[in-house]
Amino acid sequence: AGPSAEELLAALDPEQQAVARTLLGPVAILAGAGTGKTRAITHRIAYGVATGTYSPNHVLALTFTTRAAGELRSRLRALGAGTVQARTFHSAAMAQLSYFWPDTVGGHAPRLVDKKGRVIAHAADTVGLHVDTPVLRDLAAEVEWRKVQMLTLEEYEAAAADRTMPRDTSPRRVVDLMRSYEQLKDDRRQLDFEDVLLATLGMVESEPRVASYVRQQYRFFVVDEYQDVSPVQHALLRAWLGGRDDVCVVGDASQTIYSFAGASSGFLLGFGSEFPRGSVVRLERNYRSTREVVHAANTLMRGRPGALDLVAQSTAPGPEPTVLACVHDGDEAQTVARTITDLVAGGSAWGDVAVLFRVGAQSAALESALGRAGVPYRVQGGTRFFDRPEVKLAVHHMRGEAVRQTDDELTRRVGLVLQVSGWTPTPPEGTGAVREQWEALQAIMGLAEDAPAGTTMQQFTQDLVDRAATHHEPELDAVTLATLHSSKGLEWPHVVITGAAEGLLPISHATTDAEVDEERRLFYVGLTRARRSVTVTWSRQGSVRGGTRTPSRFLAALDTRSADGAAASGA
Ligand code: ATP
Ligand code: MG
Repeated sequence: AGPSAEELLAALDPEQQAVARTLLGPVAILAGAGTGKTRAITHRIAYGVATGTYSPNHVLALTFTTRAAGELRSRLRALGAGTVQARTFHSAAMAQLSYFWPDTVGGHAPRLVDKKGRVIAHAADTVGLHVDTPVLRDLAAEVEWRKVQMLTLEEYEAAAADRTMPRDTSPRRVVDLMRSYEQLKDDRRQLDFEDVLLATLGMVESEPRVASYVRQQYRFFVVDEYQDVSPVQHALLRAWLGGRDDVCVVGDASQTIYSFAGASSGFLLGFGSEFPRGSVVRLERNYRSTREVVHAANTLMRGRPGALDLVAQSTAPGPEPTVLACVHDGDEAQTVARTITDLVAGGSAWGDVAVLFRVGAQSAALESALGRAGVPYRVQGGTRFFDRPEVKLAVHHMRGEAVRQTDDELTRRVGLVLQVSGWTPTPPEGTGAVREQWEALQAIMGLAEDAPAGTTMQQFTQDLVDRAATHHEPELDAVTLATLHSSKGLEWPHVVITGAAEGLLPISHATTDAEVDEERRLFYVGLTRARRSVTVTWSRQGSVRGGTRTPSRFLAALDTRSADGAAASGA
C-alpha cells in the first residue's frame, strides 16, 4: 500500500497534477531540467493505478538505460505501483522476441552476439579491410548507426557522403563490411542489440497474432527522456501502440546528447503534430537547483532551438557558480580533491558530491588525486581508469620488455614505452575510439609528468598497479565520478565540472555548429545536476608541455566568482 490518490496529487504542482489526471490519450511534457518530469510521470502512473484506471500489468514505462529503468522502478515501488513494468526499450523488445520466436519462427530465439568487436573484426578480414582495433570500434559504431536509422545498405551508402568515415575506409568499403557482418551473424544464428529492436518491430508489424497479444498486454505507455528516442525505437513504440494513442512522453530538447548515436529531439518536438488530439504541457518551475544554478543554465541555453526557460522554485539564495583556473591537469585534479575535502569538512557527505567530465580518460588524473587525498569514489557506469584494458596493457609494457634501467627522465621513458602501446605525441586524426584510446595513454603521460622528480619507472608503475588493485569494493558513501553523458537524470547537492577548456568542452572534434551545440547541451546537463553548488574547473595547460588552453566558451554563461584554482583552494 502506497500513498492514496489524494496524497499522490498533493505531492505535485498544478501543472504536474494536470498531467497526472490526464490518464488517457496522448500527453507530452516538454520541460527543462529539474522541473519534475520524472516525478510527474511516476506519480501519474501511481495515480492511474490508485484510482483503478490502470491495471498495473497493462502499463509499460520505458526509458533508455538500465540505470534509469531501475530508478523508475524504485520510484514506482515507493509510490505503491511496484508491479508496473519499467524497462529499457531493449529489454522490453528482448522479452517479446524470446517469447514469440518459438511460435512464429520456430526453435529458440537466437542468442545475442557475445563479442561484437570480434565479429566486426572477422567481417573486416573477410572483405580485406585491414585496420587497427580503434578503427574497428569506429566501424562498429557506424554499423550501429545505420541500423538505428533503419537504413538499407543502399540508403546508407547514399547518406554516407555526408558522414565522416572511419580512418582508412570509404563508404563502399564500409558497406562491404556491413554486408559481411550481417552474413556472419546470420550464419552463427546471432543477433546484435539493434537486431533485437528491428526483429521485434518486424514481428509486431508482420504477425497479427503477435501484434494483438502485445497490444492486449500493454495499453498505456509512458516514456521518460524522450528526447533520446531513435528512429527504430520510435517505430517500435508506434507498432506497440498500433493506432491507439494512450502514450505519455516527457523530455527536454536541451538535453539531447545522443544525436551521434541516432537520437533526435525531433520526435519530442513533433509530438503535437504526430498526435493532434494530444495535450502538450510545459513545466517551468525548477525544483532541483538554486536560483544561481538556474540562472546559469538559462543563460547558457538562451536562444538555442528547443530551449525552455527555467524558473527557480527556491528563493533561498545559494552560492554563485565558482570557476577555478588551474595550472595543469594534475593541479586541477588536486584542486578538485581539495574542493571536495573542504565540502566534507563543512558538513557534506562524500555521496553529496559528483565530479563530471567530458571523456572517460579524464578520470585518470582525478582518480589518482582522489586516491592520494583519501577521498572514497566510485565511477558511474564505467570502468575505473586503471581497470581499462588499454591502460593495463600499457602498464604491462612499462613493466616488461621495453624498459631499461637508464637514468633517463621518467616522462621520456614513459613516452617511449607508450609508443609501443600506440601513443603518439600529437593526437590522432579522427574521433571516437581511436581518440579515446589515445587519450587514455595521454592520461598516463600526464600522471608521469606529475610524478615527483626522481620517481623511478619501477615506483611509478608500482603505483599504477596499486591503484588498480585498491577500491574494488563499491563504497556506500562515496563521491561519484561520471561522464557528463552518464549523469543525465541524476542530481547531487554539489557538482564539480572539470575540464572546462576549449578542446575538452567543447571537445576538439566538435567542429560544426551542430556538434558544438551538442557540447553546449552536455554542459547544460552537467550544470543542471546540481541542487546547490556548482564548481567548474579548467587548466591552462594539459600535461604535455607546450599545449596551452583557453577557457571554454561556455563559461561566458556563468555569472561567477572567478578565482585562481590553486589560490582559492589554499595551496
Ligand atoms: P531531468 O530533466 O534532469 O531528468 P526532471 O524534470 O525529471 O529532471 P525530477 O528528477 O523529476 O526532474 O525532479 C527534480 C527534483 O525536484 C527531484 O528531487 C524532485 O523530487 C523534485 N520535485 C519535482 N517536482 C516537485 C514538486 N512538485 N514538489 C517538490 N519537489 C519536486
Ligand atoms: Mg528526469
